[in-house]
Amino acid sequence: MITKSPQVLIIGGGFSGIAAAKKLHESGITFQVLEARDRLGGRVHTRQLSEDLYVDLGGQWIGPTQDRMYELCKEFGLEPFATYDQGKNVLDLAGKIRTYTGLIPKMDPLSLINLDLIIRKLERLAQQIDINSPWSNRQAAIFDSISLDSFLRKNSKTKSCLAVIRVGCETVFACELNEISLLHALFYIRSGTSLDCLINIKNGAQQDRIKGGMQPLVEKMAAPFLDKILFNSPVRKIENTEKGITVAGDGFSISAEKLIFAVPPPLLSQINFSPKLSLAKRQLLDRYAMGIVGKCFMIYPKPFWRESGFSGQAVADEKSPFQTLFDCSPADGKYGILMGFTIGNRAKAYFSKEESDRKSEMLKILNTYFGASADQPIQYIDFSMSDEEWSRGCYAGLMPTGAWTGFRDAYRKAEDPYYFAGTEAATRWHGYIEGAVLAGENAATLVFNSLKQ
Ligand SMILES: Cc1cc2nc3c(=O)[nH]c(=O)nc-3n(C[C@H](O)[C@H](O)[C@H](O)COP(=O)(O)OP(=O)(O)OC[C@H]3O[C@@H](n4cnc5c(N)ncnc54)[C@H](O)[C@@H]3O)c2cc1C
Repeated sequence: MITKSPQVLIIGGGFSGIAAAKKLHESGITFQVLEARDRLGGRVHTRQLSEDLYVDLGGQWIGPTQDRMYELCKEFGLEPFATYDQGKNVLDLAGKIRTYTGLIPKMDPLSLINLDLIIRKLERLAQQIDINSPWSNRQAAIFDSISLDSFLRKNSKTKSCLAVIRVGCETVFACELNEISLLHALFYIRSGTSLDCLINIKNGAQQDRIKGGMQPLVEKMAAPFLDKILFNSPVRKIENTEKGITVAGDGFSISAEKLIFAVPPPLLSQINFSPKLSLAKRQLLDRYAMGIVGKCFMIYPKPFWRESGFSGQAVADEKSPFQTLFDCSPADGKYGILMGFTIGNRAKAYFSKEESDRKSEMLKILNTYFGASADQPIQYIDFSMSDEEWSRGCYAGLMPTGAWTGFRDAYRKAEDPYYFAGTEAATRWHGYIEGAVLAGENAATLVFNSLKQ
């Protein structure tokens, strides 16, 4: 039994919880972080495969306008490097494999015009959304009454256009597109600057990775207060009585004046609160689903596809288990790593197979795209955060139809002495690591101000 009483308890040691802790540490507020896992990072997880080889199983990319992430890299001496983005991309559509350069795949002119119109329409509508109050938009009720899927089907005039825009959106939102409202999609786009920014590598959210992986950054952020983090300590129960707040888990019970929650929505739902959280927050939590994404890595002695002019990027319709492929080789190109995203229903089907079959399926696809050199990998690894007890999905919580207009800011709204962080509480870069950091810092500021009152 631990009886120390810090002023603040932070639940969750992902980027958001650690960003909150860093800010409290710098302000001289006493705190403790309770983390369910035996490691930091949550939905960011760098797996070291050998001394000079790693893969980022969770979040890995940063890009322009994610200013805090670049500042943190600078502060902790970590070096961003550009995602490999040169040469031909592959388009695997309707049984035909074609190559193209740039952002827009080679398609028939009608599909290309249609695709451009849909992207422009999404951009135009998203730019009208106030990220602090998406529900206040003049057409919010309409946008919140249909799914992104309905919108895309209604606006796509050709099968090819629909297939390509769906792949792009599935990769951005990490779900089936009927799981989110159009309003959530527009908010998410605006929150991440623009659709162009969310989709692009250069000048977009996939522009840079960090040498050595993303998890070392959160570890460096936490290093000055590592003794304030309790690992393997899932919070199960919270009681708030006249005597104060008690937070309990397996073998611990700690009191504090304020709490910051920095956990994904399904995990917040699992905590037993007495008294209960507000009705609005509980009802919204009941509606939150998480997306499903698998990251599948084929590792080679070198990035052989670059020699034949391929970027390693591919876009594929539902005949492939992978919506998209990216070159995820290390900065020095010492190894070649191709990463496939399998998302939503494709991920469910893919992960229902044995690992050896998954590997064979990916090898066959890579052979078709990049030739026989693809047949000689060093290693295959795949991973889905949806299987992780303390994540339950990714990239982030999804707002279905009716949620934004029905519940507004109920998720992120503080219910003093409780404050809510996590990327789902972010208005800017919601769903991303940058959003997690901003939401953590914001919760810490609110707690600091309330303690000083
Ligand atoms: C496959 C994948 C790819 C992604 N790609 C990118 C990308 O390239 N770029 C990007 O910006 N974002 C990406 N994301 C999203 C990004 O990783 C997340 O938005 C971000 O890491 C969320 O951070 P967080 O701190 O809000 O939550 P989390 O990282 O989920 O942290 C929450 C922490 O709380 C802990 N926890 C949960 N319940 C309890 C409890 N009851 N008690 C104590 N502790 C608890 C968990 O163990 C976890 O450590 C990706 C995510 C995934 C999964």
